[in-house]
Amino acid sequence: MQIITDPAEMQAIAENLRLQRQLIGVVMTMGALHDGHLSLVRIARKRAGIVIMTIFVNPLQFGPGEDFERYPRPFEQDAALARSAGVDYLFAPEPDLMYPGEFRCTVDPGPMAERFEGSARPGHFKGVATVVLKLFNITKAHLAVFGEKDAQQLAIIRRMAADLNIGTKIEAAPIARETDGLATSSRNIYLSSQEREHATALFRAIRHAETETGRGRRDLSAIAKEGLAIVSSVPGSSPDYLCFVDDDTFDPADQAAPGKAYRLVMAVRIGRTRLIDNWRFVCEGESGTRNT
Ligand code: AMP
Repeated sequence: MQIITDPAEMQAIAENLRLQRQLIGVVMTMGALHDGHLSLVRIARKRAGIVIMTIFVNPLQFGPGEDFERYPRPFEQDAALARSAGVDYLFAPEPDLMYPGEFRCTVDPGPMAERFEGSARPGHFKGVATVVLKLFNITKAHLAVFGEKDAQQLAIIRRMAADLNIGTKIEAAPIARETDGLATSSRNIYLSSQEREHATALFRAIRHAETETGRGRRDLSAIAKEGLAIVSSVPGSSPDYLCFVDDDTFDPADQAAPGKAYRLVMAVRIGRTRLIDNWRFVCEGESGTRNT
């Protein structure tokens, strides 16, 4: 595995790989790698001849008072994990090389970026879309694997790839979870052992939604309200949002209609740590639902 820190060098290598007719897959991360990231690499490994992983804690997607400074950066450990997962190139640029003084242009990701994560974190998706477009251009990837863990991000990136004719195929990876259901996340290390226990409330709300929609209920706002009660019942929790949305547009959804896909999305603060999770289901006619 080669470690590259200079965007121009990475781009030249990618150009050369393309000339050699290699199929390039990319997995973009902020590091502090866990099983979720590695599951993305496994998918990329299957689909592409060359796998590039990027590790970049992108200052542009953090708001004032967020955890940019304290975000974990265990680089040596990450490099070892990436190497053993079969990554060919690890691209880990310095912020100054990604955003030199004269940097000005950003991507406006449109209305989908205004709600949920976008309204809780103003400017977040502009930062995400901008760095993802830069990383597409630097790595020249034919395909990119993103996790469903960040479902709104995935929907925005799909939209951007289509709207801006990016030509990189976007693949989704299912959410990797701990045995008790908590979605794996680099931010889970912020949780105390008690908070870690309380954090399972997010998955309990998902399980509740799964059971209730499975019984054929279609009153999504009522089910979301019950989910909200579940996450609110644990000490020190403060939900930002918990509701069902149309899976394509992220428009809020009150009632499920047959044949349509929905997603239960949530962001909940447990102590000082903000956790996100989601669950997708397709409403299947009169008799109930099918999990996906
Ligand atoms: P991050 O390092 O948090 O920016 O995440 C990098 C990529 O890994 C994104 O595409 C995330 O959606 C994905 N990811 C993070 N956590 C998980 C998880 N638990 N399961 C699946 N994908 C994940």
